[in-house]
Amino acid sequence: MTGLLKDKVVLVTGGGRGIGKAIALRCADEGAIVVITWVSHENSATEVVNEIVKRNGQAIAVRADVKDEEDVKSVIGKIKSDCGKLDVLVNNAGIMRNNLLLMTKTDEFDSLVATNCKGPFLFSRAAAKIMLKQKSGRIINISSVVGVYGSKGQSVYSATKSFLIGFTKSLAKELGPLGITVNAIAPGFIDTDLIQDIRQEVREDLISHIALGRIGTPDDIAKTAIFLASDLGSYVNGQVIGVDGGQVI
Ligand code: NDP
Repeated sequence: MTGLLKDKVVLVTGGGRGIGKAIALRCADEGAIVVITWVSHENSATEVVNEIVKRNGQAIAVRADVKDEEDVKSVIGKIKSDCGKLDVLVNNAGIMRNNLLLMTKTDEFDSLVATNCKGPFLFSRAAAKIMLKQKSGRIINISSVVGVYGSKGQSVYSATKSFLIGFTKSLAKELGPLGITVNAIAPGFIDTDLIQDIRQEVREDLISHIALGRIGTPDDIAKTAIFLASDLGSYVNGQVIGVDGGQVI
């Protein structure tokens, strides 16, 4: 690899599986010191750390529920004391619940909003405190194509992903003058645990609408994250970058 993130400290929420894992591995391969968080799959997070160490990189995994303000404070506090800085925050952790409006339970709404909106808010606020002192930093929010275009049967999930777009653009305006860029990635249909319950015929229909003719891989997203996290993306701010193989054009 080319050392694009040499000695940068990168925090990836939900870095133990799926898209977060691919981002964590790529960042470590580019020379970053990587901190990943997990909430229920400790073994997966430990495996990611072991894989990074095997590749001669540096990483730690910390348990933190993104919905929990104390957990968030404690991860950021640990990064401050152990690493002394935080260069990149990737708000990746998220959940998906699919239901038509009339079938959607209030509890489902609450947990989607708490995980997908409150989590990135808590982490961005805590990270920005460090980044503002440094006068530099990158925040990358993992939104979704459905946050841009909407999706039948996913009204609340889509809305949480739209939240990240408004949040990204507003923070880009607020923090840009202070040396921090804030961008979002809007992935299309990516092959992770998150989409495993989707029925085969729905899966095939979705893939038939992707111009590149295939489902995305977590690494397809990680490559864009590296661009935004590194000097390659130094003048990109407040953008929502679709990475969907041409699913929506
Ligand atoms: P996965 O289900 O594979 O992974 C989700 C990750 O989020 C896990 O690491 C999980 O931790 C973590 N997580 C979930 N809830 C919490 C919580 N309360 N606190 C801390 N961590 C939590 O999903 P993906 O990799 O597919 O998704 C990653 C992001 O990408 C999500 O924000 C998703 O909305 C978005 N996305 C995904 C798409 C796709 O097609 N896959 C398309 C568009 C966007 P643990 O491992 O401990 O359970």
